[in-house]
Amino acid sequence: MDIVHIGKAKTVYRTEDAEEYIIEFRDDITAFNGKRKRTVPQKGYFNARISARLFQLLEQRGIATHYKGMVDDTRMLVKAVDIIPLEIIARNIAAGSLVRRYPFKEGKKFIPPLLVIDFKSDAYGDPMLNDDLIRALRLATEKELATIRELTLRVNTILKDHLNRRGLLLPDFKLEFGKGSDGKIIVADEISCDTCRLWLKDSGESVDKDVFRYERGDLITAYEEAAKRILS
Ligand code: UDP
Repeated sequence: MDIVHIGKAKTVYRTEDAEEYIIEFRDDITAFNGKRKRTVPQKGYFNARISARLFQLLEQRGIATHYKGMVDDTRMLVKAVDIIPLEIIARNIAAGSLVRRYPFKEGKKFIPPLLVIDFKSDAYGDPMLNDDLIRALRLATEKELATIRELTLRVNTILKDHLNRRGLLLPDFKLEFGKGSDGKIIVADEISCDTCRLWLKDSGESVDKDVFRYERGDLITAYEEAAKRILS
């Protein structure tokens, strides 16, 4: 199969149908802009399953996503889209880069949630954007940006509710959007333990990529715990 794109943790393949791609969730994991790398057996499997479940949930709630089904345990059939090079980060609780870069205390709640938009660019180190930069770089029109913001807030409400009922807090997560051949903007990429912060409500323990970033124990034990709850 022709490769459309090889990312740090996923590979995107063309199919015979120009309207469909296949995304393979690999076992590779990276952090700190690729400086820390590892291959963790089964990571791709858990992220694929979690993403599939969460995309299905969004679809059930009327949010269009690229998800079409699973080909096997680690390969997802999706609508072919052009990814808009923006990383939309919704934050409900202060953590991660926000507490490193700004005087927020970890654990501070944001009501309403904070939305932060970064430039998806390894070459430039994913710098934070604002509306003027997005316009000047022609990354999205004002109307597209408004749609992206509104969809992200709706996704946040849906995910937060689903996760909270299963004993998980959602401090923050990252979304990417794609544009299909019809020009419609839909949720794309993945929603998984690699792209969400997930804390066990009872203990505050991380069951997400922070386990890898900060060497907080066994990654698969954490991802399995997250999957067990999210898929229940
Ligand atoms: N995130 C992501 N990809 C990125 C950057 C961030 O999926 O390239 C996710 C990350 O997993 C977390 C949220 O976005 O859930 C906010 O990340 P943050 O800005 O705090 O960065 P970090 O602490 O990971 O450096």
